[in-house]
Amino acid sequence: MLKNSTKFFRKCEHPDCECEGEYRAPKNRELKEYYWFCLKHVSEYNKSWNFYDGMSQEEIERENKLDETWHSPSWKFGVSLDNLAKQGKLNDPFEIYNTYMKRKPNTKTGQTRTSMQSALTVKELEAIQIMELSFPYTEAELKKRYKILVKKYHPDLNQGSKKSEEMFKKVSECYRILLNKISKKQ
Ligand SMILES: [Zn+2]
Repeated sequence: MLKNSTKFFRKCEHPDCECEGEYRAPKNRELKEYYWFCLKHVSEYNKSWNFYDGMSQEEIERENKLDETWHSPSWKFGVSLDNLAKQGKLNDPFEIYNTYMKRKPNTKTGQTRTSMQSALTVKELEAIQIMELSFPYTEAELKKRYKILVKKYHPDLNQGSKKSEEMFKKVSECYRILLNKISKKQ
């Protein structure tokens, strides 16, 4: 094993690719967010989207100036992307956005990304928050949190407090939901 390896491995964002994503491609004309692809997929991406299509010479020049100020990508799939998607302005030839954010299977691969938070139902997401876990979690992590919280809210240890009793029930319910979630996956 490499010690002190400074090389950070960034996977190609094409849903089916395990290669290193060494090349960035802007997600939209604002050039604020990028995909990272391997050489093969960045060329595919570039081919599928003529960036300068329909732009005037002046606009192209302006874009080129912006190019010089490209800054490091923000890793968040944020609200701005959501808005772009709603307006139909998001350039997403590989359906990365849809696959990650919409829980919709990728129409090309038929896969959904279960490792992403978006693959959770509202109930599951709530349960994760109540259990103070983050997704993905392991069965061991879930059990550990459950044990801690059950102790914390146990009615016998809280002078019969109604609030604790409610939380105690809620934690048990969340535990059941989250355990069910991971056993379904395996
Ligand atoms: Zn790739």
